[in-house]
Formats: sequence, C-alpha cells, structure tokens
Amino acid sequence: MTSATAEPFSTACLECDQLLDIPALQPGERANCPRCGHLITSHIKDGFDRSMVFALAGVVLLLVACSFLLDKEPYALRIREFRRQQGLDR
Ligand SMILES: [Zn+2]
Repeated sequence: MTSATAEPFSTACLECDQLLDIPALQPGERANCPRCGHLITSHIKDGFDRSMVFALAGVVLLLVACSFLLDKEPYALRIREFRRQQGLDR
C-alpha cells in the first residue's frame, strides 16, 4: 500500500491553546507546537498496514483463546476429579 500525504488542518494545541495550521505531512514527519513543543500530530509510515497487522494478530489470538473455552470439561471439574482420585475430598 502506498503512503498518502496527510491533509492539512487547523487545530489548537492541547497544552497551551495556541491556534495552529498544520501543513500536509510526509510519512515520518511530526508537527509540534512552536510555543510549547507539544506533539500535535505525526504521520506514521504505513500506519494503516500496521493497524491491520495488529487487528489480524488480535483476531488470531482471540480464536486461540476461544478454543480453550470450547474445552469439553471445565477446569474446575478436572480439579474436583483429581482431588477425588487423590482422596483429598470426601
Ligand atoms: Zn502548545
């Protein structure tokens, strides 16, 4: 995927309320407040691709986690059976 240039916009600094016109940023550039130096925004390289990779990894981990929920015998029952076999329960 190609990296698009961010659109220019106007905003206020969250730290000092300075009104700012933020120009279009190239990938990897950052915009800081000229008064206080607070980071206003940044244009992350391949931001969409990175987000999609994290989302896909989350889906894979969710499927793995759900597979444990589909276990036929709940963990508490296994512990109870183990304790019964060991004579720990009456
Ligand atoms: Zn500021």
